[in-house]
Amino acid sequence: MAKITFRDPITKSLIMEHEIQKWHFSQETEFQQVDVFESVEFGMTLALGGVVNVTERDEVGYHEMLAHVPLLSHPDPKRVLIIGGGDGGTLREVVKHSCVEEAVMVEIDEVVVNVCKEYLPECASAFDHEKANLIIGDGLKYVEEAESESFDIILVDSTDPVDAAVELFTESFYKECHRVLKPGGVLVPQSDAVFHYGKRVHDIVKKLRNIYDSVDCYLSFVTGYPSGVWTFSYASKGGHPTEQIDEARFKEIEPTLKYYSTDLHRAAFVLPKSYQRCIEEGVEVGKG
Ligand code: SAM
Repeated sequence: MAKITFRDPITKSLIMEHEIQKWHFSQETEFQQVDVFESVEFGMTLALGGVVNVTERDEVGYHEMLAHVPLLSHPDPKRVLIIGGGDGGTLREVVKHSCVEEAVMVEIDEVVVNVCKEYLPECASAFDHEKANLIIGDGLKYVEEAESESFDIILVDSTDPVDAAVELFTESFYKECHRVLKPGGVLVPQSDAVFHYGKRVHDIVKKLRNIYDSVDCYLSFVTGYPSGVWTFSYASKGGHPTEQIDEARFKEIEPTLKYYSTDLHRAAFVLPKSYQRCIEEGVEVGKG
């Protein structure tokens, strides 16, 4: 019998093909194609728009690093805004911090939230948490209408810049986030893979540097994503991400963690020379 597979386009000329144990869900929503299947290699997997977004096996490398690097660099984050993040993994990490009073998550596609509750319950475990406030709507609109200086941290856990997420990668969106952040606030958008999408990472950092006092990229291993090495861009209104890491707060959450450590936090900002050059100058890795 022919094997069922899912072909994940890494780029237009490269594919990662998953052998599938079981196909669970497929629906074309108002916003995107949503698929859930069990990959032999990665376990339960969510694909959006035909692209792998979350896998059971490697999701912690993405969610723990997106959340804890800014949350432990900020001295006292009370209000956190998550844009996108429909699987719930980032929310699960944010609400672990005792100082966080409210985590607002704005996800455009309710179907993603519902399928993740059913098929990725480890990720979707915090939607009913007392600090969690889930809003189904467009993250761009939410930020445009939000009060100035009303959040300590904004995490952009969006799909790549296609469809509804395109506007979340613009300079005007980053400017709106700057307005909404309190003094000392931090914005961290997921910012793609340097190896395959160097130009995209370079552009994101360039736009952020036009607005924020300090902008640095950091890396995380997310094996199922293009190249397996993902970037996040740390943009702050003051304060460097490795200057003051809250070790006491880290100790509180450490028993729950599978990936993040404060040593890794520091190391994540040390980039290979060719990656740094790509981010700074736009020269693609291995091509200049
Ligand atoms: N870790 C993932 C990745 O980079 O592949 C991101 C996962 S998370 C499921 C991405 C979410 O962003 C999706 O559920 C999608 O519906 C949501 N999204 C895209 N555009 C959005 C927008 N304008 N406002 C709010 N959510 C948005």
